[in-house]
Amino acid sequence: MCYRCVHALPAILSRDRRAVTEDTKPMPAFARSHFSRWFARPLIPVIAALLTLSAVTGLLGLQSWRDGEAINLSLEHSGQVIDTLDRLRTIIVDLETERSGYLLTLDPAYLKAYGVSDESVRRETEALQTLVANDPLQSFRAGHLALIISEKLREIDDLVKTAARVSGQAAQAMIRGMDDIRLQIDLLQDVERFQLVGWEKRAGDLERRRTRLGLAAGVIGAVLVGTAMALARIEAKRRRKATEENVQLHSDLLERDRKIRRLVDSNIIGVMIWNLEGCILEANDAFLRIVGYDREDLAARRLHRTMLTPPEWRDLDARNIAELELIGTLAPFEKEYLRKDGSRVSVLIGGAMFEEGTNQGVGFILDLTERKRAEEALRQSEERFRTLVQFSFDVYWETDAQHRFTRQEFAESLVDAPAAESEIGKTRWEVPYLEPDAEAWRKHRETLDAHLSFRDFELARPARDGSKRYVSVSGLPVFDKTGCFIGYRGVGRHITERKRAEEALRSAQAELAHANRVTMMGQLAASIAHEVSQPITAMVTNAEAGLSWLAAQPPNLEQVRQMFDCIVNDGLRAGDVIGRIRALVKKAPQQRVALEINPVVLEVIALTRLEAAKNGVLVRTRLAEDFPPIQADRVQVQQVILNLIINAVEAMGGMGDGVRELLISTGRTASNGVFVSVRDSGPGLDPRTMDRLFDPFFTTKSKGMGMGLAICHSIIEAHGGRMWAGANEPRGAIFQFTLPVEPDETVPSGYVDPMSAV
Ligand code: ADP
Repeated sequence: MCYRCVHALPAILSRDRRAVTEDTKPMPAFARSHFSRWFARPLIPVIAALLTLSAVTGLLGLQSWRDGEAINLSLEHSGQVIDTLDRLRTIIVDLETERSGYLLTLDPAYLKAYGVSDESVRRETEALQTLVANDPLQSFRAGHLALIISEKLREIDDLVKTAARVSGQAAQAMIRGMDDIRLQIDLLQDVERFQLVGWEKRAGDLERRRTRLGLAAGVIGAVLVGTAMALARIEAKRRRKATEENVQLHSDLLERDRKIRRLVDSNIIGVMIWNLEGCILEANDAFLRIVGYDREDLAARRLHRTMLTPPEWRDLDARNIAELELIGTLAPFEKEYLRKDGSRVSVLIGGAMFEEGTNQGVGFILDLTERKRAEEALRQSEERFRTLVQFSFDVYWETDAQHRFTRQEFAESLVDAPAAESEIGKTRWEVPYLEPDAEAWRKHRETLDAHLSFRDFELARPARDGSKRYVSVSGLPVFDKTGCFIGYRGVGRHITERKRAEEALRSAQAELAHANRVTMMGQLAASIAHEVSQPITAMVTNAEAGLSWLAAQPPNLEQVRQMFDCIVNDGLRAGDVIGRIRALVKKAPQQRVALEINPVVLEVIALTRLEAAKNGVLVRTRLAEDFPPIQADRVQVQQVILNLIINAVEAMGGMGDGVRELLISTGRTASNGVFVSVRDSGPGLDPRTMDRLFDPFFTTKSKGMGMGLAICHSIIEAHGGRMWAGANEPRGAIFQFTLPVEPDETVPSGYVDPMSAV
């Protein structure tokens, strides 16, 4: 905020709009800077130069005028001197003529003809002396002339008085004596004329100087006037621009004032004016609301910093005020205010001093109550989240956009947790895991690179004792507000115990399944015996026939050879049957192979044929063609079909009357898998126990174990299929299962649903 804006605050806070407008007018500022600005303008030096030039010209002119006057006086003076000398010469000539005439003629008429008196000579001589009194040389000569003249006049007077005696010689002598006077007058006149010429020359020089000076002054004046006019134009332009800028500045200031007023009036933040003594002089409503005081308190000067500040904050307050005094601004800091009712309020406060020399400043106060509340809520939420994580998960983790760990938190209960921070910055696949295999990692990375969520991705890390520690991780991608992917956030569960339990369960399940198969084999002993005895009986019959052909005369070797062929085929058939039975009875690990479902169905039907016949059941098949082979364990799928057929046969075997019919169908599912259904026309299923049908140990038979369907269900699920039961029309039960072409990857191989297994 500029100084002017801050300066306008007191008026805004005191709600005097007129004062603000007037106070923010730009004119006083111009007036203040007016004087200094004039000096900054280029026109001023020009005017000053013009004035200086005028003054110098005036002085020079005055000097010149004075010189001129002095020269004129000198010229006049020299002229007077010369005139006086001329007059004196004339008088001397007249005197000479008068006196010499008289002396030569002794005629007194001569003395009267000129009327030249000694007095007039003396007067002119004195006038001459007065005129040249200031010139020492001329004065000396004039004095000398006066002496000679006076001497001569006296001599002439003497001669005149003795004229009768001296005659013409005396006159000649007198005239000669006059030559001295004339010589002196000439000397004086020459000097004076020389001076006159000097003065005239100086007068000429002066005139020329005046002309040059006038011309120079005219040229300089013209240049200065031209420059002044040019500068005046520039200045006028500048002032016009400055005026425009000032108008703009004024409107900007008004705009800013308007904004500040908006800020103050909006009461979003508290604004107050204070002095360094701590007294709060002005404040807006927001500030008063924050501290819980009213305008009366403010007017009565009851609001004081010390009073508003709790004791433990006063030291910090004092330090901040000292800083404010020093640098003029106060960086925002958090503190607490004591409200009027004694409660406390957290605030963020910042401020600035007004201009230098005042002890007042403005403070801006933000109520932090909501923020503090939000922070506290956030802290508690974080706490709750931590608690939840601690009790629900063993690991909480976060990764960045490059899938590098940025955060890992391990539950205290987690055994063999990696050292804190040891995996930060690494991707999951840079951490030494023992499982899963490369293919699983490849698929997992595809999921991550596609920014998809994932669940229960199982990993195994080596434990200190060399065993494997399993953890199952799940994660969700995180995107910023713009939708840009920024990483993953997820949890992990320690599943080693569960894995072991599953393993134990699987093995128990396998044991159980095996036991179940062996049991069924026991039940099917007659059927098996029949199945095996058939080729053996045929072999015996064929052997006997062969012997007969051998005993014939001649022996029919061709027939014997055919009998041997039959015996070999029957032997192979018997071996085949025994092999299949052995495979069913054998305890072998699960092995998935590409399997055609129809032959499997037919083999089981062959095994159970005698059992069905014994119970009067008619077995029919409806097998679809062109199946894709499925990936499945042959023995397990046979066990399922066997269980369903035996259950159906047993159910129908207990019936009093009615058709006993078993229909085994195969077909294709919508998702390109296969389905197998076993329908019977037995008593059907009890609706009340339908939902417990696949539970372990559920049986309605007196000697039943109740494990057959539970095992079948878990086998089918383990293959990624589904199994269910329902009522057959018009009567009986129908059991069906599906098997996918490829087992679903999300269902781990050999997975046993704990809820449906033992
Ligand atoms: P168990 O044969 O030892 O009883 P199962 O799990 O194979 O064990 O069968 C559980 C129960 O399901 C049977 O006791 C019987 O009540 C019922 N059940 C199975 N198959 C049929 C069927 N085809 N018709 C009627 N009930 C059946």
